[in-house]
Amino acid sequence: MLLGVIADDLTGATDVALMLAREGMHVVQTVGVPLPDVRFPDADAIVISMKSRTNPTAEAVEWSLTACDALLRASARQILFKYCSTFDSTDAGNIGPVTEALMKRLGVSYTIACPAFPANGRSVYQGHLFIGSTLLSDSPMKDHPLTPMRDSNLVRVLQRQTKIPVGLVPFQTVAQGGSAIKDAFAALAASGPAIGVADAITNDDLRALGAAFDGHTLLTGGSGIALGLPENFRKAGLLAEKSANRPFVAPSGRTAILAGSCSAATRGQVADAIAKGIEVFAIDPVALADGRLTSDTLLNWAIPRLGSKPVLIYSTAEPEAVRAIQERFGRDEAGAMVEQLLADTARGLARAGVTRLVVAGGETSGAVVSALGVTMLEIGPEIDPGVPWTLAADGTTMALALKSGNFGTPDFFTKSLEMLG
Ligand code: ADP
Repeated sequence: MLLGVIADDLTGATDVALMLAREGMHVVQTVGVPLPDVRFPDADAIVISMKSRTNPTAEAVEWSLTACDALLRASARQILFKYCSTFDSTDAGNIGPVTEALMKRLGVSYTIACPAFPANGRSVYQGHLFIGSTLLSDSPMKDHPLTPMRDSNLVRVLQRQTKIPVGLVPFQTVAQGGSAIKDAFAALAASGPAIGVADAITNDDLRALGAAFDGHTLLTGGSGIALGLPENFRKAGLLAEKSANRPFVAPSGRTAILAGSCSAATRGQVADAIAKGIEVFAIDPVALADGRLTSDTLLNWAIPRLGSKPVLIYSTAEPEAVRAIQERFGRDEAGAMVEQLLADTARGLARAGVTRLVVAGGETSGAVVSALGVTMLEIGPEIDPGVPWTLAADGTTMALALKSGNFGTPDFFTKSLEMLG
């Protein structure tokens, strides 16, 4: 095993697993905090996915260290802490504290923070994160239900989360490549541990950063920062040349779509599905809180409709509607309530013969996969940048497309299911 990845949510883990698989690594993704006696299957990279983005910080740190220790025991040579390409976190959030704890555990004086993912329009310039041509703070991420991002300056954002000094490795340095990048990080850490937010606009920048971190034990970032890492192992003779992917065979059965994301891309995908005449059920969180709506309501509606066409159940709503619900029930409470409903519904759908399930939303996917009892995922073909089909690899019969809320083209729902034939 060469590379161990600790991902702070499930769809993010799938995203980085896909990136590594495309670059020629054999990757296995596991779900949940590993048990002390865990034995990972043979792989070049193990991606451990957790639900540690928005949980209490002490818990996120403890889980991440447990994952790190398990990966080290499995002889990982390098650890990557993977978070969202939109840097999802709050000021009291977990990216800083987890990075700090991993730096201490691995004994490194510096590490990188770089969420850039150019294929999905995420770039970092002078420390500012852009979503396409828009600053993060002007993007729809400003209205995220759990982690509203209202500051695009990542040096500032990360510094609010950690006592370790955070500096910038600017584009001018990244453009000079290898040794200039290494020197810049070493300079940041000249008088003690430091974290460097690195600019990256293109995949070439990410590959240059990856090359500069050859042999360095800890990196942090989005899936893009993993782009250059397999090549380091290949150059060192530790990784075979790229081999053809194994064929992906989805189990036959019924199909369903669950959307618990309120992100702009998912809102568009729900609208597209409605326009295409897919049967839909819109969750009313007030009815849910009152007990008038339960997973049985959803299952009684969905099961008679399961057939050749998918059904879509969604809680996806516009920012004003989400705000109203949060003001009434509390942000975390509203989120947990909807996640639980969709997770229970997924379990019922699986019992009713659904074997092909599309889920929109990172937290939502985490809740669904844990309700289904899936512990390991094999990575299949890419649907859209950062989103592959996956297959439960632990005896559960289920093909899952787990989509980070903001990923995918408007026709993602129908396109993903058509891909399976
Ligand atoms: P994304 O990938 O877009 O961030 P997530 O699933 O990670 O999506 O997060 C969305 C959060 O919003 C979840 O906790 C979900 O339960 C919550 N949520 C979904 N619909 C609503 C709604 N209508 N009102 C309030 N919260 C909601």
